Amino acid sequence: MSESIRAERFPRQELLRALYRFQAGEEASRRAACAPGCAACCTDRVYLTGLEGRMLRGELACLGRLDLLARLRPGPGPGYTCNQLARLCLEHSEPPEEPTPEEPAGVCALLEDDRCAAYEARPLACRVMASRQKCGSGGQAQGDPWWFTLDTALMQIAEHIDLGGSYGSLGELLSDEGGDGQGMLRCEPLPGLVAPPEHQARLQQALGPLFVSPVAGRPLGHWLDLMRAG
Ligand code: SF4
Repeated sequence: MSESIRAERFPRQELLRALYRFQAGEEASRRAACAPGCAACCTDRVYLTGLEGRMLRGELACLGRLDLLARLRPGPGPGYTCNQLARLCLEHSEPPEEPTPEEPAGVCALLEDDRCAAYEARPLACRVMASRQKCGSGGQAQGDPWWFTLDTALMQIAEHIDLGGSYGSLGELLSDEGGDGQGMLRCEPLPGLVAPPEHQARLQQALGPLFVSPVAGRPLGHWLDLMRAG
């Protein structure tokens, strides 16, 4: 199915924007040490959906910064998508091994003066990066188990929103040179949410407002069901 037909059937961009808004609300309630100019997590190992890639490219075009795409290089792709990993966890199966990159991670091509050149359209993988302590200059990010549970669920939902679309690295999805597609995976449906027992009830409660939030005349959760049905 072509990307244009997929885009007509479901309001994928609006759904993704609603997800981004929800995540921003959650982020605002966290006590993270992250601040403008913190860029330790801005590496070339960012994975995103094709839909996110198109929105990011659109933002760069609006900003007149498509020149930045020339800096991107197809890098190592992901070993699995979020929903593949979740499915394997729920099936009690071993996930495939993540490929071991030959080179250490480089700096993200969209980073300029330690700021994201397309911040408003950055992918969810960047949005959910957060630490309770400063992690630049040799420090280590310190997350929060609940943040990890909720953010994993949001990543799963973002993948479902682009069900059937591409999933890969920023370099592979956006590079002007175009990747060879070998590092690209397909977005899978949400197989269920993966959460430790102590977070399951809290997760259902936290996601309730997201699932009922209106998008193009229907609750977001209804669209997710329609996508699953095809
Ligand atoms: S897209 Fe933006 S926020 Fe994400 S890693 Fe690159 S510079 Fe950082």
